[in-house]
Formats: sequence, C-alpha cells, structure tokens
Amino acid sequence: MNLNQLDTIASQFPRTDKMPVLFLGHGSPMNAIEENQFVQGFRNIAKTIPKPNAILCVSAHWFTKGTKVTAMNFPPTIHDFGGFPKALYEVQYNAPGSPELAEVTQKLLTPTPVDLDHSWGLDHGAWSVIKHLYPNADIPVIQLSIDYTKPAEYHYELAQKLQTLRERGILIIGSGNIVHNLRLVDFNNINKVDYGYDWAHEAFDSINKHLLDGDYKPLISYEKQSKAFQLAIPTPDHYLPLLYILGLQSKNEELSLFNNHLLAGSLSMTSVKIS
Ligand code: ZN
Repeated sequence: MNLNQLDTIASQFPRTDKMPVLFLGHGSPMNAIEENQFVQGFRNIAKTIPKPNAILCVSAHWFTKGTKVTAMNFPPTIHDFGGFPKALYEVQYNAPGSPELAEVTQKLLTPTPVDLDHSWGLDHGAWSVIKHLYPNADIPVIQLSIDYTKPAEYHYELAQKLQTLRERGILIIGSGNIVHNLRLVDFNNINKVDYGYDWAHEAFDSINKHLLDGDYKPLISYEKQSKAFQLAIPTPDHYLPLLYILGLQSKNEELSLFNNHLLAGSLSMTSVKIS
C-alpha cells in the first residue's frame, strides 16, 4: 500500500509526529482495580506520550489460528479469567472501536490474510492496562491477534508493516509479560516485588541486557537460548507481544525500561518504551 491509498482510507487519522510504541507487562488481572507501583508506572508513561488518535493492541490473550483484527464499533469488555473477585468482573472499559483503523491494518499487512473480527472485543490483556493509561476510555482501541501457528521471527517482521501507523497518531501497545511462568508462581508471595528464582533473575538480567544493547537476535531466537530462557518463557503467548514492539523500532530510536521488577518468583512486570 502506498501513502496515497492510506490517505484515502484514513483521512480521519491525520499525520502526526511519530508515536512511541509500548510493551506493557500486565501481570495479574487484579492490576485493573488495585493500586500499586505498576499501575502508577502505566499512568506515568501515558503522561510522556502525546494523546493518540487511536490504539492498536497486540494482547497475549488473543492467540488465534490466522491473524484477526477487531472491527466492531463498540468492542465489549471481555472478562477472560476465572476465580477473581466480583469487582473485577464489573469493570467495563467502554472505549470505542475503529472499523476504519481495522481496515487500514488489514491492508497494511497484505499479503498476510487478516480477518475483520466481530466476535472478540477487548480482553484483559488490553483493558486492564489501557484503563490506567487512558481512564476516560475516549480513545478508540482495536486489537490485533497473534497467529499461534507462526514462528517468532514472523511476528517480529509482521510488526514492521505497521510502522506507518505511528505517523498517524496510532499508539501501538504490546501487552504480555517477559518472564511469565504461571506454573511456578509462588502464590504465598504473590505481591512480593524484586523476588525471583535464580533462573528468573538470570533470564531477567540477560533479556534486559539484550534489550538495552539493541541485540534482538537472541530475543527472536529465544527458543534456542539458555535453560533460564526456557523457564522464563515456557509458552510464547505472553512473550510474542514484545517482539511486535521491537519490530517497530526504527534506527535512531531509543529503548527504555519501566516497571522493571521481578514479582512472585517467576514473573516480571518489565515494560518497554521505544521512542
Ligand atoms: Zn496475561
């Protein structure tokens, strides 16, 4: 697609300065309604970013065969978890959708087939964090699913096709967790910050170093790295949103970390801003 076509389709997304991109470590769904240093970190990062025209979110919790993009006018708030207090199920994040942005996204990703989806909405990977950045829910949000049949490198490369959106005031957010081994979470210390098993510290330090050095090859080939990586990333769902964000970095841009803490033994809340 050339820029003229994009202009025609997206006249409602005027040209802007290049928007930053974010990876947000979302952690427990309870972060949606709790007050802690991490939600404070989400609020603070929003203050460093111009108000977006719209948000495109790649959430760990929308893992599909093939690629989809939400295309409804009013995406429902999906409570895609079990066993949490009633107050969490009562949260509604009523941001509008943007069928126009969905269509632009579909075209930008050509020749990858992208389904315009009318059955999903906003899952908690999206709303539990975006609500802290933009509590008024006045910015349209769409989600792009992660095709679970594809390898890591594919996701890193697919993201690069979305680069143009950043110059249209679109904030692209990846939402997951870098160190994320739910099976090994120490539930007796679920809120204990800077607490990680040895392997979690090793993976945390090593991944952060690669991120800050701009050395993304070992991060894309994470499946071939150390035992610590395998324990930190036992499944790809919460990790792949990070690769979308890294794929969107252009040459002269800097990467910074925030909410950079281990938690509960086997999780990290590390979040990334590229601008
Ligand atoms: Zn999650």
